[in-house]
Amino acid sequence: MQTQILERMESEVRTYSRSFPVVFTQARNARLTDEQGREYIDFLAGAGTLNYGHNNPYIKQALVDYLASDGIVHGLDFWTAAKRDYLETLEELILKPRGLDYKVHFPGPTGTNAVEAAIRLARVAKGRHNIVTFTNGFHGVTMGALATTGNRKFREATGGIPTQGASFLPFDGYMGEHIDTLDYFEKLLGDKSGGLDVPAAVIIETVQGEGGINVAGLEWLKRLESICHAHDILLIADDIQAGCGRTGKFFSFEHADVVPDIVTNSKSLSGFGLPFAHVLMRPELDKWKPGQYNGTFRGFNLAFTTAAATMRKYWSDDTFERDVQRKGRVVADRFQAIAAWISEQGIEASERGRGLMRGIDVGSGEVADKITHKAFENGLIIETSGQDGEVVKCLCPLTITDEDLLEGLDILETSVKQALS
Ligand code: PLP
Repeated sequence: MQTQILERMESEVRTYSRSFPVVFTQARNARLTDEQGREYIDFLAGAGTLNYGHNNPYIKQALVDYLASDGIVHGLDFWTAAKRDYLETLEELILKPRGLDYKVHFPGPTGTNAVEAAIRLARVAKGRHNIVTFTNGFHGVTMGALATTGNRKFREATGGIPTQGASFLPFDGYMGEHIDTLDYFEKLLGDKSGGLDVPAAVIIETVQGEGGINVAGLEWLKRLESICHAHDILLIADDIQAGCGRTGKFFSFEHADVVPDIVTNSKSLSGFGLPFAHVLMRPELDKWKPGQYNGTFRGFNLAFTTAAATMRKYWSDDTFERDVQRKGRVVADRFQAIAAWISEQGIEASERGRGLMRGIDVGSGEVADKITHKAFENGLIIETSGQDGEVVKCLCPLTITDEDLLEGLDILETSVKQALS
């Protein structure tokens, strides 16, 4: 396999190609093929960007038809038929059935663009600078978003410029099972000398993806919402990884019956892996003046087209979400069995997650790496997350066939046994 030019020219900043050092050429649903014709089952799915699989034929057809009709590809933030169709579909199939009323801001197309816009909007709307975020949170690596991201690896890479404007609080479970970390938040808010600048907003992932598949309890989330309401603080749900069906509902906060003031989506929003993000906001929060937060790639018409097709195909009723929940239970059962086996070998391990966002915490990055390397040798692409990379995580396409799901789980189990015995 010819990799010299890739190794020589691409910056050292590259990551995934270190874990999976082959040249990929094709992909379909949950299977990737490399240049040698070797197939892999994909439990990474673009880090949660390919919820509907690689080259989903239905979505691809919508894209091909649009291109074939010379539809607008780039249009700054012009009104286009594709944008109108996207907004209509979003309103009819996603927002209205959930009783949600949001205006939509199209920032740049990546997750961190959406987070930057969301926290900026919260600051403008409330006239306060501080954003409360949580331990192990990951919200992106541009300066504003980075300030709300916990991991030192990213925070240290600013060339000495301090990350500013955010305060960290312990996520649910961070202080152990029996401590409700929101007691601390509430106490600080009520204490004029507690040192916490009253925040404009709280930003939260209901399930922390990069931070180690840490799952916020549903009651904890509901209490967070009511604390925010009581103190006039906006609640931002960063649903960039946990949204678009990953946890078994379109929005991950639906499980907790929480209504955030602002929502960020990206990753799987286009349905096809095209760069695309939006920020949803309660209408009265739309404090932007025309062009005040701009960018060349504000809404990508190809992504409007694929995203609308995705909503029509998968979100017209609850069939798809029930199937995701069913597959989530399959993965959970198997992960529990694998974790139990690992624990029997003297390495404490446990399973956690919601829907098809699941992980096995094996306690150390070294052990997790051994497992994922072995898995790759055996034809499974699976990555780690957590502060030390100690959680082996499954983010397989939600559309994965049962056969591929079971085969992937079999490969993982074999790989764990090979790596640890
Ligand atoms: N927010 C969350 C919850 C994420 O998981 C990520 C990326 O993993 C981001 C924000 C940043 O998205 P991007 O990498 O597209 O900038």
